[in-house]
Amino acid sequence: MKISFHGADRDVTGSCHLVEVGGTRVLVDCGMFQGGRRLDEDNSEPFGFDPRDVDIVLLTHAHLDHCGRLPLLVKRGFRGEIVTTAASRELARVVLLDSASLHEEEAKREERTAARRGEDRSVEPLYTTLDALNTFEQFGRTANYGEQLTLAPNLYATFLDAGHILGSATIILESTANGTSHAIAFSGDSKHSPHQRSSVEAYPAIGGHSIGGSKGLVDQILMHTGSFHVFLRSRPRIEA
Ligand SMILES: [Zn+2]
Repeated sequence: MKISFHGADRDVTGSCHLVEVGGTRVLVDCGMFQGGRRLDEDNSEPFGFDPRDVDIVLLTHAHLDHCGRLPLLVKRGFRGEIVTTAASRELARVVLLDSASLHEEEAKREERTAARRGEDRSVEPLYTTLDALNTFEQFGRTANYGEQLTLAPNLYATFLDAGHILGSATIILESTANGTSHAIAFSGDSKHSPHQRSSVEAYPAIGGHSIGGSKGLVDQILMHTGSFHVFLRSRPRIEA
């Protein structure tokens, strides 16, 4: 299991994490950088991976800093499946259409400003309403809390209620290989955020999945920003 962070590592926004397992590439969130001109400009930068190579996107929730670059991902060639909860899917429709129209308006405003300076310049929006509509075509299976979804042979995702906004989820991604089970938990923005972020022990069990606390199932916190944490767990697989 290989994980790389393409946002929300130095900054709190722009959550976007790529997990590669076997031949499968899973993106967890594809959020917008927010908070000032420098971060706005980061949104149009290359992702750091080829969107055409991504098989599946798992969406933790529908806040713009977690879903806002999905239409850009589709515009740049992503044709895989987006998996999230039913509520997040509906909220994302509203959020992404709104975001697309804001980008269109901003592009027109820049063109008008240029025209006033005597420049005939066309400005391309970060993405358009059509890109947002195309994104909705990529929404596939609905994730129900607590149900394990098979993403690929030996690769599974489970969405758990994160208690953040309607439909929000902590996502546990598990893979098994050579008798060992590896799990990565993406907390999403979670109400379970520990006060001592550096302490795995401070993180409570969520649902039936203990991804922290005293049971010792978490080996390592890979990343944390704000209330978003990524945990890693490895243990021998127990065959039924
Ligand atoms: Zn959020």
